[in-house]
Amino acid sequence: MKDKRPSEMFGELVFSRRVMAGRIPKDVNEKLQAAIEGREKLDNSVAGIVAAAMKEWALSKGATHYTHWFHPRTDLTAEKHMAFLNVDNEGLPLESFSGGELIQSEPDASSLPSGGMRSTFEARGYTAWDPTSPAFVVGNGDGATLCIPSVFFSYDGTPLDMKTPLLRAINAIEERALRLLRLFGNRGVKWVHATVGAEQEFFLVDEELARKRPDLLFCGRTLLGNLPPKGQQMEDHYFGSIHPRVLACMEEMEDELARLGIVIRTRHNEVGPGQFEFAPQFSEANLAADQNQIMMDIMRKTARKHGFRLLLHEKPFAGLNGSGKHTNFSLQDSEGRNLLNPSVSNQKRGLQFLAFLGALLLGASKHGGLLRACIASPGNMHRLGGNEAPPAIMSVYLGDFLNRLLEDIEEGLPEFGNVKGEIDLGLSRLPAIRSDNSDRNRTAPIAFTGNKFEFRAPGAPQSLGGPLTALFSLWAWGIEEVANRLEANLNAGKELPDAALDVIRHAAATSRNVRFEGNCYTQEWAEEAQRRGLPVAHSTPEALRLFLTPENRSLLADLGVMSEREIHAYYETRLHQFNTTMNIDMGVLASMVREGVLPALAKQIALEGNALSHLPAAAAEGPCGVVLEKLGRLKADLHEAVQRLEALQADLDTLPLEEEAEGMVRKALPLLEGIRGLCNEVERNVALEFWPYPRYRELATLK
Ligand code: ADP
Ligand code: MG
Repeated sequence: MKDKRPSEMFGELVFSRRVMAGRIPKDVNEKLQAAIEGREKLDNSVAGIVAAAMKEWALSKGATHYTHWFHPRTDLTAEKHMAFLNVDNEGLPLESFSGGELIQSEPDASSLPSGGMRSTFEARGYTAWDPTSPAFVVGNGDGATLCIPSVFFSYDGTPLDMKTPLLRAINAIEERALRLLRLFGNRGVKWVHATVGAEQEFFLVDEELARKRPDLLFCGRTLLGNLPPKGQQMEDHYFGSIHPRVLACMEEMEDELARLGIVIRTRHNEVGPGQFEFAPQFSEANLAADQNQIMMDIMRKTARKHGFRLLLHEKPFAGLNGSGKHTNFSLQDSEGRNLLNPSVSNQKRGLQFLAFLGALLLGASKHGGLLRACIASPGNMHRLGGNEAPPAIMSVYLGDFLNRLLEDIEEGLPEFGNVKGEIDLGLSRLPAIRSDNSDRNRTAPIAFTGNKFEFRAPGAPQSLGGPLTALFSLWAWGIEEVANRLEANLNAGKELPDAALDVIRHAAATSRNVRFEGNCYTQEWAEEAQRRGLPVAHSTPEALRLFLTPENRSLLADLGVMSEREIHAYYETRLHQFNTTMNIDMGVLASMVREGVLPALAKQIALEGNALSHLPAAAAEGPCGVVLEKLGRLKADLHEAVQRLEALQADLDTLPLEEEAEGMVRKALPLLEGIRGLCNEVERNVALEFWPYPRYRELATLK
C-alpha cells in the first residue's frame, strides 16, 4: 500500500497558484496573476520577487539547478541547466537566481534546427519565461532541477520553437470565440479558453531485448522482423488485464505525474501486444501541450527503472497497430461552459453550439491541407496512408444525427422523420439535440465525440504544438467567418435565431466536401475524396508541402501565427528531419544486414552445405540441394540490395533538400521495404541459434 493518497501528492512539485499565493506578497502576486491571465503585461519589477520566491520553493524541493525548459522544433524538449550555487564577492557560497534570469536566458543552442533562420554568425538563441504555464521541479536521484516553461527565439525575435506559434494560435481563437459569444448575447463572459486532452498510446518492450536491436535503439522502430504467429489477431490484448510488471510501472508513472500536477484518468491495454494507453485529465491548451511533453519524458524514464523501454514511435512493428496521440479539443468559457456541449435546453445555446461546430467545419473544409501537413512526420508515414489505416485524407465525422440536422438546416425545411429530438433549438421547426456517443466512427481522422472533437491523426511522439497550432488557426478563421456573417445579418435587422440559422446553413453547405460519415479505410473513399478535390498526400514530403499553399500560408500569416518566412523555415526544418530520419534508417538497416543477417545466413548455408557434403552427389538435385541453392540466391540478393542501399544513400546525400526527400520516398523507401522482406525471409530460414536479433514474438511477450 502507498503511504500517500494521490490527492495528497497532487501538484507537490508545481509552482502553482496556491504556492504563489503562499510565498509571494499579495500586491506582487496580483500583478503576476494578471499577467498569467493575459490581462496585463508582466512588470519587470515583479520578476525579482517572483524569482526569489520560486528559488526558495525549488530549494525546499531539493532543486540544485534551474533551466528554461523549451520546445525546439524536434518534438522533444530542451534544457540547459544552471546551478543556483554561486559565490559572492568575498568568495562565500550562496544560492542565487535573479528576476533577469527568470525572465530571459541565452542558451545559444545553435545546433537546434532553425530551418535557416539563424546563420552561425548571428547564432544566438534566447529563451523567455512563459508565466502562463507553471514552473515545476523534476527530480533525478538525489538532485532536482527547477524547470521554467519558456519560448525560444532568435536574436531578432523570430520564434524557433513549437510553443510561440501555439500561443499565438490560442490567442487568435480565444479572441474570436469571445467575439462570437458576445454576438450571441453572452455579455457576462470574460474569456474563452481552448481545452485539450491528448490520449497517449505507447509500447513497452523489455529493455534487455531492446538493447540487442540497433533498430529499436537508434530508430525507435523495427526495420525487420516477422509477425509472431500470434499477434493481435485475437484482439485479446485490447482492454485485457494489465500485466503486473506493466501495472507497477504505470503506477509509478502516475504517481510521478500526479506530483507534477498531471492526472492520468484512464489506463488500459491497447490493441497491439505490449501496447498501452494513458489518458490525462484535459486542461487549458498551452498547459496540455507542456504537460504532454512532461508525460512522455517521465514515462520514458520510469519505464527504464522497471526494465522496460518505452516506444513512442508511430509504427514500431510492421503489421501491428501503430501508436497515435488522439487529441481531444474544445472551447470553454469563463462560466465553465463547454462550447461544444450540445446538451442544452435553450434555443440560443443550441444555435450557438451549431455556430461553433460550423466554424470548425468551415476551417477544416478550406484548410484540410494544413491538418494533413501538421501531422506529417517521418514516423507517421508508416502509420497513416499507404496500406495502413487510418487514412491520410482529412475528413470530419459528425455522427448521423448532427449530419442530418445540418443537411436539413441546409435544405431550409427541417424534416426530421424518425430521428428522435435531441438539441432543443427552441424553434418549432427544429428538434432538441442530445449528445450522442453511440454512433462512433473510429475510421475518421476528426470526429465529433459528443461534446468535443477528437483529432486522431497526430502520431504518438509528436509535440502537440504543431497539430494544435493548425487546428486552432483554422478554427479561429472559421469562427471569424461565422462571426462576420452573423454580425452582418444582425446589422441588417434579422432576429438572432434567423441570423444564426442562415450562418449555420452557409457553414453546412460549404463544408460538404470535408464531411464523411462512411468507412474512411475503403478504396471508395480515397476515390470519392479525389473527386471532392480534398488534398491527398501519400508521403510526408508531399504532405509538408501543403504548408506552402497560398491559402495555408496566408491563413497563418494573417492570424499572426507564423510569418511567411517562419512557415518556410518550419517547412524546411520538418523536411530536413524527414531526410535525416530516413538516412538513419538506411544506415542502421545496412549495418544490421552486414553485421547480423548476412553472417547468420552464411552459417545456415555452411550448415546445409556440410549436410549435403555427407550425402551422395545425386542429393544435390534433391530437396537439400534446392534449399542450399535458395539460400545462396537469398544471400546474393541481399548483398546486392544492401550495396544498392549504400550507393543510394551516398547519391541522395549530394542532392538539395527537396530532391533528396523525393529520392527518399521514390527510391529509399521501396528499397528499405525490399530489404526488410529479404531479411524476413532469412529469419524464417535460419536456425534459432543463428538469428542475431530478438524476434517480434519475444519482443511482444513481456517477461
Ligand atoms: P472518449 O471516451 O470520448 O475518448 P474520454 O472521457 O475518455 O472520452 O476522454 C478522452 C480524453 O478527452 C481525455 O484526455 C479527456 O480529458 C479529454 N476531454 C474530455 N473532455 C474534454 C474537453 N471538453 N476538452 C478537451 N478535452 C477533453
Ligand atoms: Mg477517445
